[in-house]
Amino acid sequence: MALHTMKFGGTSVGSPEAIEQVLKIIQRDKAAGHDVVSVVSAMSGVTDSLLKTVSAAIEGDRWTYQEINRDIRHRHEEATHRLIEPPSEREATLVEINRLLDEHLQLCEAINILGEATPRMIDAIISFGERLSSRVVAAALDSRGTPSKAFDSSQLIVTDNNYQDAEPLWEVTSSRIKQRLVPAIQEGISPIITGFIGATPDGTITTLGRGGSDFSAAIIAAYIDSDDLTIWTDVDGVMTTDPRIDKRAKVLPYVSYTEVGELAFYGAKVLHPKTVQPIITRNIPMRVRNTFNPDHPGTQIGADIVPSTSVIKAVTSIRSISMLTVSGKGMLGVPGIAGRTFLATSRAGANILMISQSSSEQSFCYTVRDSDANAVKDAVEAELKAEIEHQDVDGVEILKEVVIVTVVGGGMRGTPGVAGRVFTTLGNHNINVISIAQGGSECSISFVIEEQAIEEAVICLHDLALAAVENVN
Ligand code: ADP
Ligand code: ASP
Ligand code: MG
Repeated sequence: MALHTMKFGGTSVGSPEAIEQVLKIIQRDKAAGHDVVSVVSAMSGVTDSLLKTVSAAIEGDRWTYQEINRDIRHRHEEATHRLIEPPSEREATLVEINRLLDEHLQLCEAINILGEATPRMIDAIISFGERLSSRVVAAALDSRGTPSKAFDSSQLIVTDNNYQDAEPLWEVTSSRIKQRLVPAIQEGISPIITGFIGATPDGTITTLGRGGSDFSAAIIAAYIDSDDLTIWTDVDGVMTTDPRIDKRAKVLPYVSYTEVGELAFYGAKVLHPKTVQPIITRNIPMRVRNTFNPDHPGTQIGADIVPSTSVIKAVTSIRSISMLTVSGKGMLGVPGIAGRTFLATSRAGANILMISQSSSEQSFCYTVRDSDANAVKDAVEAELKAEIEHQDVDGVEILKEVVIVTVVGGGMRGTPGVAGRVFTTLGNHNINVISIAQGGSECSISFVIEEQAIEEAVICLHDLALAAVENVN
């Protein structure tokens, strides 16, 4: 008998039919004698809709947020009616759905009156999606004879107060999970836990970043000592590229933690970038599988790096990037400019996605999201004010609306010629490379190109990755 952790994404709980599939997957595992702990996302589209209610409330658009509130209420009530038998068993869930959505409406009213929403209020609002879906799934599972209960992860995952991108406080999270979740599992309950949500030590709701339910599931898996973690989603596994960009994308049978971490960091939406963090040191095996095609084995993720024959396993991309260049003839003589630049960047609240420096040390460039670029430029120029006045540094130049394309493959380490092959391929397609960087883990190469070349770049590099999968399969 094993302890399994499963995470079901938005599409997997997006309709009564989809939830039926989820229930079957859990029940099949229970029938085989295992304990199952599940983490669920909001029903597909609900988090986006909740975010819209925030902007509608700020603008005083009461009609829009009331309409969205009604839609969400209707979707969850309908799922409850369709999934839970007999009708007498629906009552408690319907009461909960209405209580939560009344609370949502009150928060919208408060924002409407204030005319603004604090980061803390935004998290309170976007937490409703998971709080609703978890109740429906737990009640449906319970009504089918598998004892189950909904758990709010705000009771389990304790975080800092960096709203919208909160970071877990590991020790207290570990003890909360052991005190509040493990006893329920030992009693034979199959918990259905909200993804995405945490709370500060004083109990204020936070969220872990968009797509954060994967991360929630990994945190839970780590602290309940799960034998494995399965991310159930709407594609057959981790693929050689985003199937929406290239339909030829193929499922990778195996990728390492490091490879999948790079893929997620550089834009593969299939996993939240922090997912591998809690499980990598514990070596918990992980799989990505398709809720709607449960007989497919999916992608296995583990510690070993198994190079594919062509080395490049997958290609990803991120849009809406700005490249910042700091340059100046006097930079060589002034120590610490790069360090101060990056500190000023992080103080401005921006994440650095890639860095490259020319060997002359007269300039370096790095990338942030377009939305952060102006604030970062101001912060860095303020930090380097004295050097700019002395003309040691010319200033910060921004190149907006570029993209990052990344090729990933563990075998790149120590394999000569990979970068050559990548850049020859791009050259053959007349794609101009603006800047290049190799990932610290040496299993990725990233480069910046102009936005309009993104699809052609991904597709021509994807050819290299496809050749490898064909050789493995
Ligand atoms: P969930 O709601 O289950 O978390 P997401 O929409 O967050 O699902 O992630 C799954 C989606 O990620 C897929 O439907 C696919 O379109 C997209 N995707 C992007 N890159 C990849 C990739 N390399 N492999 C698989 N899916 C990818
Ligand atoms: N519901 C959240 C989102 O849409 C978290 C998740 O789905 O993982 O971002
Ligand atoms: Mg997701």
